[in-house]
Formats: sequence, C-alpha cells, structure tokens
Amino acid sequence: MIERNKGLANIAAGYLFPEVAKRRREYQAKHPQAKIISLGVGNTTEPLTPHVARAMADYAKSLGTKAGYSGYGEDLGLTPLRERIAQVLYHGLISADEVFISDGAKCDIARLQTLFGSKARIAVQDPAYPVYVDGSVIQGAAGKSGARGYKGVTYLPCTAENGFFPDLDRIKPGTLIYFCSPNNPTGATATRAQLKRLVDFANRNGCMIIFDAAYFAFIRDEKLPRTIYEIPGAKKCAIEVNSFSKLAGFTGVRLGWSVVPAALRFADGTPVRQDWTRIVTTLFNGASNIAQAGGLACLDEEGQRETRALVDYYLENARIMQETLTGKNFNDAGVQVFYTGDSPYLWVKFPGWKSWDIFDKILDECNVVTTPGSGFGPAGESYLRFSSFGHRGDVKEACRRLSKLVL
Ligand SMILES: *Cc1c(COP(=O)(O)O)cnc(C)c1O
Repeated sequence: MIERNKGLANIAAGYLFPEVAKRRREYQAKHPQAKIISLGVGNTTEPLTPHVARAMADYAKSLGTKAGYSGYGEDLGLTPLRERIAQVLYHGLISADEVFISDGAKCDIARLQTLFGSKARIAVQDPAYPVYVDGSVIQGAAGKSGARGYKGVTYLPCTAENGFFPDLDRIKPGTLIYFCSPNNPTGATATRAQLKRLVDFANRNGCMIIFDAAYFAFIRDEKLPRTIYEIPGAKKCAIEVNSFSKLAGFTGVRLGWSVVPAALRFADGTPVRQDWTRIVTTLFNGASNIAQAGGLACLDEEGQRETRALVDYYLENARIMQETLTGKNFNDAGVQVFYTGDSPYLWVKFPGWKSWDIFDKILDECNVVTTPGSGFGPAGESYLRFSSFGHRGDVKEACRRLSKLVL
C-alpha cells in the first residue's frame, strides 16, 4: 500500500468556507422561503469590463485560424505582458525579467512553498488567508498541530490593539514571513513606515517576505504603498505575489504574477530567481494565452480606466456597508468597524460574541451570510468579515435588514 502524505494527514480542521456553506444550506433547508444574501465570500460578482472581454473573445477567435493559432507560449509568460506589468503597475521599480506570469496568486503561493520545501521556518499574520499555513502543512513545513496552531509556525496576532500590524520581534532569524496588505480578512493596509519596519527587520535578520498584494488595486489613499518595492531594500528580501483576480474580476479567468527580484538570494548565494525559474518551467506550463491577452488589455489606457471603475463599484458597496454597520443599533451595542476605504473587506468586532454565534444570529435574523473571523485564526475571534463583493441591489437589501438587527 502507498503511504499517505504525512503533511496532509497532519492538516487540522476543515476549511472555513465549506462550514459557512453548510450552515447556509441547512438554514435554507429549514426555511425554504428565506432569501439569503451573501456578504461572505471573497469572490467577484460583476461582469468583465467590455474592452477586456472583447480582447479575450478576439484572441480566442484568432486561435481558430491558421495565422492566429499558437500552442505553448513563452515559459515565464508573454514578454509584452511582463513588460507592461513592470511599467504600468510598478512604474519601473522592477524590470520585466523579474516578473513571472502565473494562473493566479494562490497557485503561485503553492509553488513557492515547493521552492522553500519542508525545512522552511514560517511566520504568518493572525488572522490570515488560509493557504499560507495549510499549504505549508502539506509541504511538511509547519510541524505538528497543537492546541494553539502548528508548532513550526510563528503566529503574529494583528488586532485592534496593535493597529493590525504585528510585533516583529516575535519572529526568529531566517524565517519566511507571509504578509498580506491590503489584508484579507482585516482590510488593514500597511503604511510606508510599517512596511519599512518589516523590510528592515527582514534584511537585518536574514528573513524573506512573501508579500501578497492581491488587493493593491483597492488602495485609494495616495500615501499608502501599492507594492513592497516602494520600500528601499525590499528587492533584497521580498517576493511579491499578485493577481488580476480582484483587479479585473479574473477570479474565473485565472491570471496572476509573481515578482522575484534579481538581487534576492538564498543563504548559499544562489539567486532565488534561478530556482524559481526552474520550479515554474518544471511544474507549470504557462498561463492561458487567452487570459494573457485579457491581462494585456487590462493594462492599456482603456483597460485601466475600466478596471478602476470596476474596483470603485466594490469600494462603493463597502462604503454603504460601513454606513450601516456604524449605525445606531450597532454603535449602541459597542460594535467596532475597522475600515479605511482601501480594501474590499470590513472587519467588524462584536464584543462579547463568539464569531460563529454572531454569524448564526445574523444568518437567522437577517438572512445574511458573513464570514466568521475566528476561521482565519484565533486573533479573529469575536470578529466578522463583511465582503463588498456583491451586486449593489443585494448589498442595499442586506444593509436594510442589518439596520433593523437588534443586538
Ligand atoms: C483572492 C486572493 C488572492 C488571489 O488568488 P488568485 O489565485 O489569484 O485568484 C490571493 N491572496 C489573497 C489574500 C486573496 O484573498
């Protein structure tokens, strides 16, 4: 018999979203009339923008012609797309040959975990997007599961008390640090001073940062950094993973990229980019050429205008929710809303409540699905995440119901 992968055998409790879906399903079965609205998932809802959709349709059509057909593309992604990402999104802070095109940030995180292997010592923000830890567990890099998470993982609480920026001194030298900003789930967006502290800490302590910037397009405050490479020294310590998913509604299309700077090196002096090239060419055969045609269209002038408006739509949803969640019924109950206007997520604290209990109450009394903060890590207990990914009409109706909630 084949032995089971010990990493998978070691993985703790089920994934958060299946449990949310189960509770929703069970509630619906008991209350068939209920019109449930979800403010729970991190999935985009609005259609692709016209210019971008047209570019992909045209490209797909051309694949059906002798002149337009192409098979496998360039190993590391379409050169014009790598160039446009470096110019348009990074304003030349990095060069095109440091950009690697992928089928999405989550898939790239999993491949990065094979790059670092089972000996990597890791640190994550708590709460955090689940793949950082769960993917590491599968690699065998997280150690045994204990009462307070995995023994090989340093959890960095990000709470209202510390302004959602962790105490870096808890991190041991030589650690791989996962850092997400704007953050999923807290919505917190690190300031330039905070990211400078992170980069300086990593460089001083021989750490490497995997910086997840999947929500950078939601940053509207001009003072906030949109990429870690705005911070001097970041090219010596940081990989950035990024995606068209939230930038352009490509959650289903599938397109992302990672930046691995030429200057980034392992302890033995090997350029990380050299090993990353090996991983990408060995385990991945390139992003869809249709998706890459769409990515190119996102980054021309018309595409940039359209995708900005698309993101603005979700930001307006978030603003509407913020207004409701800071209303009298919530305010009187001591509910605290953490939202700065630079993320699709509102992180909301319900003092005296367990996350799953307030989740159930809101499902029961408002027929609105949210996401329990505790599912993202112990520091998320008592919080709910409200997502702005939804149709405007649904968001408004959910808010109308929430405004009547008695707490
Ligand atoms: C949605 C999301 C991503 C994007 O993943 P894709 O695989 O590119 O769709 C990455 N990181 C975080 C934190 C996310 O919420």
